[in-house]
Amino acid sequence: MKKIAIIGSGFSSLSASCYLAKAGYEINVFEKNDTVGGRARQLIKDGFTFDIGPSWYWMPDIFEKFFKDFGKKTTDYYQLDKLDPAYKIFFKDDIITIGDCMEKICEEFERIETGSSSHLKRFIGKAQENYDIAINKVVLRPGLSPTELVTKETVLRVDQFFKSISYEVRKRFKNPKLISTLEFPVLFLGAKPSKTPSFYSFMNFADFGLGTWHPRGGMYEIIKAMKNLAEELGVTFHTQSPVERILVEKGNISGIRTKGTFHPADVVISGADYHHSETLLEKQYRQYSEVYWKNKTYAPSSLLFYVGFDKKLENVEHHNLFFDTNFELHAEEIYDHPQWPSEPLFYVNFPSVTDASMAPKGCETGFFLVPIAPGLEDTPEVRQQYFDIVIDRFEKRTGQNVKKSVLFKESFCVNDFIEQYNSYKGNAYGMANTLKQTAFLRPNLKSKKVKNLYFTGQLTVPGPGVPPSLISGKLVSDLILKKV
Ligand SMILES: Cc1cc2nc3c(=O)[nH]c(=O)nc-3n(C[C@H](O)[C@H](O)[C@H](O)COP(=O)(O)OP(=O)(O)OC[C@H]3O[C@@H](n4cnc5c(N)ncnc54)[C@H](O)[C@@H]3O)c2cc1C
Repeated sequence: MKKIAIIGSGFSSLSASCYLAKAGYEINVFEKNDTVGGRARQLIKDGFTFDIGPSWYWMPDIFEKFFKDFGKKTTDYYQLDKLDPAYKIFFKDDIITIGDCMEKICEEFERIETGSSSHLKRFIGKAQENYDIAINKVVLRPGLSPTELVTKETVLRVDQFFKSISYEVRKRFKNPKLISTLEFPVLFLGAKPSKTPSFYSFMNFADFGLGTWHPRGGMYEIIKAMKNLAEELGVTFHTQSPVERILVEKGNISGIRTKGTFHPADVVISGADYHHSETLLEKQYRQYSEVYWKNKTYAPSSLLFYVGFDKKLENVEHHNLFFDTNFELHAEEIYDHPQWPSEPLFYVNFPSVTDASMAPKGCETGFFLVPIAPGLEDTPEVRQQYFDIVIDRFEKRTGQNVKKSVLFKESFCVNDFIEQYNSYKGNAYGMANTLKQTAFLRPNLKSKKVKNLYFTGQLTVPGPGVPPSLISGKLVSDLILKKV
């Protein structure tokens, strides 16, 4: 039986491990940390459960498709609840609540801008068509050639690759709050809305059309489900096993080395950050130079706080966005002039609002996220300074005192992304999906220099996010199995 070694245990690696084990390969997954899941690991402290990374469960169809490929359903492993409201956005002078269906969302849009609901319905209709094309046709291609992007449907929409989502939104809506609301979903793709092709409006359909879901017990339930499935299929996991070297003989993969031990393999897939994976190779086998990596546009890093509160909080939902400062200025401070944000926008997740299992009785589990430029200087002082800023604004906007109710807080930032995941410049979400970094223009799934060496994950095809990482694992498996 052919042996495959997989480096890392994020969503993409777990996905690849399942497909390839099902195809009959002997799969060993090597993970440097002591638990699997990569950026989606879990923190449990004093009865509080935190998802360390992803918290938005979007595109439920992609998770369903993944499990269906193995004759399973998500409900065989975890229970999903559709959130209503999906989320709430705090602005300086108002709060926008996004309900769980178009009818409720249209009502809210009408409240803010008369006549906007009919524009919204048309916009989401177009976004739905894009979703169907993107998810069922474009995204399932491995990024080997520009012709993959050419389909009957994309040719008819070619202008949407050259106009930005910002342009499309601003053409239809005038109210800045509605503009921010509609520009928010593409932030998941890691670039400024003004740099993201309008074809990506399919993210707006994912948001308003498909809704926001929560796996009971948190996002880590998906990781547990995928690990269980992988083990059912015969995959072996090795945690606390940092891969030190990818070994090549005469241009062909020979295996990997962990803790001084050689593990022979016929195929190696790295789901660790791409730049780091290449540093595990001798220089002559690396495909991309340091200059190449330096010139890429990365998705943001994040400053994160995991906070246990000793009481239930008021006026908050499961997902809360604080867009009460200048959206454009913060984006410029991430992408154009990287620096700590002058007036940060932030996101707060309280999973215990809808899921009692996430916090002790009468308490609240809070996850605060401030998006920042990758590579910023990260010190304990600056983390504390931003915690104070964010908590002050949170208290002001939600009209309550919470500082005295903080039982503990843990933080995570650039230095942790580097130390824990070998992340390039401490990026949180990989490489942005700009036009110049889409499909065949992203780092390759397949090495051009080493036979039987492959890559997967958010830095390669199709891009950042949990659903794309699941797809990335399938794409790399299809390449190995020569299905594409
Ligand atoms: C704070 C945060 C919030 C997010 N929010 C969302 C969200 O709400 N919704 C969403 O869809 N997406 C979200 N994302 C993005 C999503 O989590 C990622 O796109 C996805 O988890 C990436 O998976 P991956 O397979 O590419 O790799 P990763 O999760 O990065 O896994 C790579 C693994 O490789 C391991 N590794 C590195 N080097 C080595 C080595 N030498 N040897 C062995 N192992 C190694 C690492 O430890 C890690 O476990 C978020 C990400 C972050 C960080």
